[in-house]
Formats: sequence, C-alpha cells, structure tokens
Amino acid sequence: MARIVQKFGGTSVANLDRIRAVAGRIKETIEAGDQVAVVVSAMAGATDQLVAWTRELSPIHDAREYDVVVSSGEQVTAGLVALALQAEGVDARSWLGWQIPIETDDAHGRARISAVDGDEIVRRLGGGQVAVMAGFQGLGSDGRVTTLGRGGSDTSAVALAAAIRADRCDIFTDVNGIYTSDPRIVAKARKLDKITYEEMLEFASLGAKVLQPRSVELAMNHGVRLQVRSSFDDAPGTLVVDEEEVVEHAVVSGIAHSGNEAKITLIRVPDRVGVAASLFGSLAATNINVDMIVQNVSEDGNTTDLTFTVSQPDMERTLRLVEDKREELGFERVVGDADVVKISVIGVGMRSHAGVATTMFSALAECGINIQVISTSEIKISVLVASTYTELALRSLHSAYGLDAK
Ligand code: ADP
Ligand code: ASP
Ligand code: MG
Repeated sequence: MARIVQKFGGTSVANLDRIRAVAGRIKETIEAGDQVAVVVSAMAGATDQLVAWTRELSPIHDAREYDVVVSSGEQVTAGLVALALQAEGVDARSWLGWQIPIETDDAHGRARISAVDGDEIVRRLGGGQVAVMAGFQGLGSDGRVTTLGRGGSDTSAVALAAAIRADRCDIFTDVNGIYTSDPRIVAKARKLDKITYEEMLEFASLGAKVLQPRSVELAMNHGVRLQVRSSFDDAPGTLVVDEEEVVEHAVVSGIAHSGNEAKITLIRVPDRVGVAASLFGSLAATNINVDMIVQNVSEDGNTTDLTFTVSQPDMERTLRLVEDKREELGFERVVGDADVVKISVIGVGMRSHAGVATTMFSALAECGINIQVISTSEIKISVLVASTYTELALRSLHSAYGLDAK
C-alpha cells in the first residue's frame, strides 16, 4: 500500500467529462489498494476570468478581496470531484485550504505556506476516505483566505504530500512529462525520464510553467518524490529526483523562456559611487524584484547606460519610481521595453564544461538575433532578446545543443 497525492491541473478538470475521467483514475488507484489525497486546480480558464473581473472593477485592487474572488475556482472543482467520486461509489469529501488548514503568511496574491497540519487527512485516508483538497488556497496569518500565486496548486500538492508523508506526488497535466523545451513551441523537444530538483527549479524559475517554482523548492527541501505525467494516458512521466539518481548528465538539459520580462534602461547616468545602491535600494524597498543587470560606460567615459529587467507587471511602477529619482541620480532619461523575452539554457553539466556560452551566442548570431542582456549562474545562462525571436531562438538553440528528437 502506498500513500499518494494526485494533483490535477486546469485542463484535466476542464469539464464534467474530464472530471468523471479523473474520478475514474482515482478509483483505480484506490482499488489497487493505495490511499489517495487529491489536489485540484480550477477548471481551465476559470482563474483567468476571475482575475479579469477583479481588474475590471478595480485596477488597484484590495489584494485580500482579490484572493476571496480568485480562490473560488478551486472550491468548485474540489466539490465536483468529490461528487463525481461519490457517484462512482467512492467515499470522498472536499477540503478547502482553511479547513486543513494550509497556513500561509499574509502576502495576499502570492502567499507562502508556513505550516500544514496533515493529521486529520492521514486519519481519514486510513479510514478509506479520499480527501479532495482545493489547491491554490491558504489561510493567512491575518485570518483571511490567501492564494499562492499563479500555478500555485502545484505547491499545494507538494506541501500536502510533505505533511502527510506521502510516498509520491503525481502532477497530472496536459503534457506527458517535462521536456527539453516547451513542446508547444519546440516540436522537436524530447521528454526527459528524470530531471534533478536543481535543474527543475531553474527550469521553473526561468519560465517553464509546468511546475510552480515554489513547489519544486518544497519538494527538494522535504524529499517529496515528484512525478509530472499526463492525465490523458498511463505512460510514465518525468521523475524529479536527487542528482545522484541521474546517471548521465547532459551538459545542457533544456531551454526555457519567459515572456514576462520588461527591460528598463537609464540613459546617461553620471558615473559616481552609490548610484546603483540608491536605485536598487529604492526598488527593493517597494518589493520590486530586479533580475538581470548590465552597465555600459558610454563614449565620453563620464556617464553610463544602466539596463535591468523586472517582471512585466512591475514595469509601470518601476518607471514611475525611477523617474522620481531622476534629479537625485542625474541621468538623462529612462525608457521601458516590454517586447523582450528571456531565453535560458540550463544544465548541471555546465559546471564542468567550457564553451556552453559560446555555442549559445554563435547560434543566436547565425540567426541574426541581437543579445540585449546576459546573465549567468553556475548551471544556467540567460539572454534577453526581442520577443519576436522567441520561437526562432528556442528552436535554433535546441538544435545547437543537440537536443532535437531524432
Ligand atoms: P496545469 O493546468 O496542469 O497546471 P500548466 O499549463 O500550468 O498545466 O503547465 C503545463 C504546460 O507547461 C504545458 O502545456 C506546456 O505548454 C508548458 N511547458 C513549458 N515548458 C515546458 C517543458 N519544458 N516541459 C513540459 N511542459 C512545458
Ligand atoms: N488556478 C490557479 C491558476 O490558474 C492555480 C493553478 O492552476 O495552479 O493559477
Ligand atoms: Mg500549472
């Protein structure tokens, strides 16, 4: 007997037929003798609709009420899946985040889980009942409903798996595993049998939305065995594992992209001590995350152009904040550009191999793609390019690193 968490994403519960299919799969697992705790997302498109409604009524919304609205999609599917299971003769009940409770901080809209009490769920599972938990939801330290950020049901599933000491956490989605690049864009992408937590964390943080980054971090810290697989067939998916479990390391294991970037450039900044500290200090104080940074000395040698990236929703706020500092910092003007994409190559094998960056730069140059910003870490290289080149850049890099499926 195993204790398993099964998480079903939006497309897997998109309508009643799919919900019945999900119930059928859960029933099979139960009949095989396993205990199952289920975590569900909202029906495909439901959360987008809820977000759009809050924005339409109130562009500068109260994040606590935003959470009340957007968390509701998961309540619907939790109840429906429990009903579908009962219709199949399976003992099941739904659980909302606050009922578990999934305790979080009070950062509404992007709350972090602080504690999960799994005892009652363990007891119920022991009594033969299926627990169907609404993903994405938490109970804030302010006593109100929180949500975990877009894609947060993955994190709910891993947190529950850790709390009930599950043997496995299966993430059922609309692709049959983790690929070397987004299979919807790169037709030649290959499915990976295994990927390390570390690489998956980079992959997710750099834009591969197949898993929410925080879910990978939690799985890594709590040793949760995570599998990404298709809700439409029974083929084995991709296992996320410790580095020792992967026998052969490719130098580059995959390529991710994120279109959620915005580039901010300060033109002709006087070259003096303390400019970066003042600028980035102000951004940090208002919770704006800066990602890539480059600074170039201009022709006269006295001023520099300073470029950095923030996430697209932060662009307007950043431009306003920087503009307010124009007099203090003495730069000429500031410009924003949202038509950019960040492309990243990822691989733990990079630690011991030279020449990975050169391959990237040459492949992009051959396609005539100009690199605007570069950043690197031990196991990844990211470049910022114009967003019109997204597909071309992904496909040509995929070939350049020999990742194409035969
Ligand atoms: P769910 O609704 O089940 O949570 P998501 O849409 O959040 O599903 O995540 C699955 C999607 O992630 C896929 O449809 C795919 O387009 C995208 N994706 C991006 N990068 C990858 C990758 N490297 N491997 C697999 N899927 C990826
Ligand atoms: N329904 C939420 C979203 O669309 C959470 C999730 O699907 O993981 O972001
Ligand atoms: Mg998702």
